[in-house]
Amino acid sequence: MSAPVSAVHRVGLAAAAVLALAALGLWSRRAPVAAPASPAAASPGTVVRATRPLMGTIFEVAVWAPAGREPEAAEAARAGLDLAAALEETISEWKPSSEMSAVNRGAGGPAVPVGPDTRDLVGAMVDYARRTDGAFDATGGPLFRLWERCRGEGRLLPPDEVRSLLRLVGWRKIELGGGAVRLSEPGMSLGTGAIGKGWAADRVGALLESKGFPDYIVDAGGDLRIGGSRGGPSWTVEVKQPRREGALARLDARPGGIATSGDYERYFLIDGVRYSHILDPRTGTPARGLSSVTVLAPDATAADALATALFVLGAEEGLAFAERTPGVQAMLVRDSGDVLLTRGLRLTGDRLEVLR
Ligand code: ADP
Ligand code: MG
Repeated sequence: MSAPVSAVHRVGLAAAAVLALAALGLWSRRAPVAAPASPAAASPGTVVRATRPLMGTIFEVAVWAPAGREPEAAEAARAGLDLAAALEETISEWKPSSEMSAVNRGAGGPAVPVGPDTRDLVGAMVDYARRTDGAFDATGGPLFRLWERCRGEGRLLPPDEVRSLLRLVGWRKIELGGGAVRLSEPGMSLGTGAIGKGWAADRVGALLESKGFPDYIVDAGGDLRIGGSRGGPSWTVEVKQPRREGALARLDARPGGIATSGDYERYFLIDGVRYSHILDPRTGTPARGLSSVTVLAPDATAADALATALFVLGAEEGLAFAERTPGVQAMLVRDSGDVLLTRGLRLTGDRLEVLR
């Protein structure tokens, strides 16, 4: 269960590839990279890890355990994964028994009573849709599903179908209040894909802290919640190159959230054009122009939702949005490979520094 006190977290691994490797027993998400030089010496302890397939990807909880507390840390990591599994039962739109599915089935009808977790997540969906002026919009559910099917079939969604589904999209059609959620139009549905993993990672982080383990990384398939440090030195996070093997950037992560949205894991090519799984809710078609967006934010919910939103907004607008959002830094990679950074970041070779 335990590993030496050096850890590198890769952001943005192809979930399918990871699952395949896991099935073969070869899964290793960590490159043997030495811990970065740091003035702070590590206090004695180990990193305890637990992993589980959840929410269509692999969740990994890594907890730094001071010497003697390893069994307790392992128990806390397992409890974190149990919490993520319970949250998935509640908020997954792919599980017919979930509250989210009940909300989606009830679209156009009376408000559907839901518990505090679903209320919280739907509240965050509305919040990030408002803040990004609809670049993030979870009401794209029907479009996400159909584009997903098209991706499997290697074809584009016909424009007339896009137009008719666009009528169902619009976060203002979400009514949240009185312990219930109502989607005002029949056929509407909420998709949790761009925010649910980050949101769950935050909840797992809060649980670890409540159990007396403030030093951890919760990796929800590349959406990270980071707590504290590895007993002194920072946790090291790696951001993948969008168009080839290897790391684009490595950083000593501060506590908070880090997420990457890219077009290199789930996409399809038609006539040499790459179509990503992130849609522009204004047009109902795949967002274009960027290959990868990494967001550093105060929590993983924000990082996850904003990485998707910036991908939609594109290089100029996305960068401007990140610059004016307190607590947020971003690294955007254009299709051409050009890297754009907010003023609080510096990239030297593959070393990404957070300046403020
Ligand atoms: P991933 O979950 O693959 O790491 P994202 O966080 O960017 O990447 O989420 C992408 C998923 O979110 C899509 O598969 C789709 O279900 C949904 N989605 C696509 N475009 C948007 C959007 N503009 N706003 C909200 N959700 C989106
Ligand atoms: Mg996201």
